[in-house]
Amino acid sequence: MVEPAPYPSGLILTGRRVVVVGGGQVAQRRVPALLAAGADVLLVSPEVTPALEGLSAELTWVRREFEEGDLDGAWYVVAATNLSDVNERVGLAAEERRIFCVRSDDAGRATAWTPAVGRHGSVTVAVLGNREPRRSAALRDAVLEGLREGTIADRRERDRVAGVTLVGGGPGDPDLVTVAGRKALMEADVVVADRLAPRELLSDLPADVELIDVAKLPRGRSAQQEEINRVIVERALAGKAVARFKGGDNFVFGRGYEEIIACREAGIPVRVIPGLTSPVAVPGLAGIPVTHRGVTHEFTVISGHVPPGHPASLTNWSAVAALTGTLVLMMAVENAPAIAAALLDGGRHPDTPVAVVCDGSMPTERTVLSTLGDLPADLVAHDVRPPAIIVVGEVVGIAFPKPPPKLSP
Ligand code: SAH
Repeated sequence: MVEPAPYPSGLILTGRRVVVVGGGQVAQRRVPALLAAGADVLLVSPEVTPALEGLSAELTWVRREFEEGDLDGAWYVVAATNLSDVNERVGLAAEERRIFCVRSDDAGRATAWTPAVGRHGSVTVAVLGNREPRRSAALRDAVLEGLREGTIADRRERDRVAGVTLVGGGPGDPDLVTVAGRKALMEADVVVADRLAPRELLSDLPADVELIDVAKLPRGRSAQQEEINRVIVERALAGKAVARFKGGDNFVFGRGYEEIIACREAGIPVRVIPGLTSPVAVPGLAGIPVTHRGVTHEFTVISGHVPPGHPASLTNWSAVAALTGTLVLMMAVENAPAIAAALLDGGRHPDTPVAVVCDGSMPTERTVLSTLGDLPADLVAHDVRPPAIIVVGEVVGIAFPKPPPKLSP
């Protein structure tokens, strides 16, 4: 027999009579959805499950066996008893009255099939797996999960608003972007992406999204930032939804607030989606806690992009050396020897454990263990290159309790 091809349709049941025959598990699954659709439900069954009984105020329950006349005035029928002969009678009565009828026992004798249904915001997802309910349910779940996680684009033209969204991308692995971050990317008209943002996600963007790769903008830090500010403001003023996608969190050495100021001056609404920031996430991925009870009550995150003693330095390194907690150094590979020297000068012990975590969360991730005294030599020996997070303090000793094994370069 040739399998019929169902014709899908979204029924508007508001105020319309729907008859459900049977009061067991199947009815229990169908009735709440019918009520949610506003249907005038007539439930026919001598007995019903406690859950259905709990709904009795919202429907009409006729406490007896099915009679053909129950279908008078109905638009839709669900034959959901566990008795095939009753379902068959319901089906025949429905056919006579030209009412579509779902059957719990034999889809082949039904005139309507119930799809696996789910909702995402204002969208209803319905999957008809041609009599393979598990398959439909699995597909439905996959679609809903994709919508929730943003791996399936849901370009809601109606509620999409022009403006700028700062999206924190996390340390690099696309799995470490937040659900909200992914959604914002998929809903954007324009994505302005940084070098350190999880770039794999960019290949999933819908084809009509304009992708602006900051790594390709003219060099020079301030010129580049001015150009970024100009581009995001211009696109947002043109009515586009702009996602500013960066590694980690946009407000941690990410110049995110400069972009906010530029938007504010232009009267553009801004939304912020925080990201997993690398000074916490990257040590964590390497198994290093930035705090540990009884060991440290503080962790201090410092940018090392300006060397100690440089006129542009805003950090008091002798005060930092005097701190007793964890130090997390970012953008510090180049100046690490000068920073280690400043910390030793300030009284830190040369045996203070140090971990350098390179390419956190990426396939090339590695951790180089060292000490403050040996750090300059170890960075050379292990050919450490940015991006890297340098963790200084006892927490490194806790995570790697043995004397740091000297890895060969
Ligand atoms: N906004 C980002 C930081 C940008 S500054 C955040 O919140 O994480 C760039 C510095 O971040 C790099 O020099 C490095 O120190 C650190 N960094 C970012 N991602 C990293 C990663 N995956 N592995 C190691 N360090 C990382």
